[in-house]
Amino acid sequence: MTKMGMRRDPLKKRPYIRRTKRPPYYKMIKIPPKPKKTPVPRAGVVPSVSPISIPRKILVKQLDTVFSRFIRLRYATLDLPSNELFATCVTCGVVKHWKEMDCGHYEGRGHFGTRWDERNCNVQCKRCNIFMKGNYTVYALYMVRTYGPEVLEQLALKANSSPGFTRYELQLMIDDYTMRVDKLLKAC
Ligand SMILES: [Zn+2]
Repeated sequence: MTKMGMRRDPLKKRPYIRRTKRPPYYKMIKIPPKPKKTPVPRAGVVPSVSPISIPRKILVKQLDTVFSRFIRLRYATLDLPSNELFATCVTCGVVKHWKEMDCGHYEGRGHFGTRWDERNCNVQCKRCNIFMKGNYTVYALYMVRTYGPEVLEQLALKANSSPGFTRYELQLMIDDYTMRVDKLLKAC
């Protein structure tokens, strides 16, 4: 290309260049935040909980709470004069109000494969569960006596599996155990 070809055409208007700096247009407009919608439950319709918006950690905690209540209530006996439910510790036999008892895990709670297994979790008093760290020898004997000799091996295998519960599955389990706890409490 020759030098002539590079020269600016004198008749051509110079392009307009803005010299002052201005923030881009989208930064100049302030958009007010959207008001949060609060779900209004309609009569006769159960408000559906969307587990997508609830953090997994919260769902696990909710399920732990309701599952523990279910375990402590499932074999509880009704004391008639007081009209209260009492549960029996599976490892020492002490009988106490169900709210004073614990849900003792045979395979530790850290194993998600058996964390909410109904065979793996049984009523224990605080002395056996906390101070005696599960009272494992007696607990193992109880497990074999109640669920059969193969239970310990089955639970050991299940404990080391990774079930990978989705948030939806956790929510379904919460709903199911909430319903079962309500039934047990209403029955007395
Ligand atoms: Zn006990």
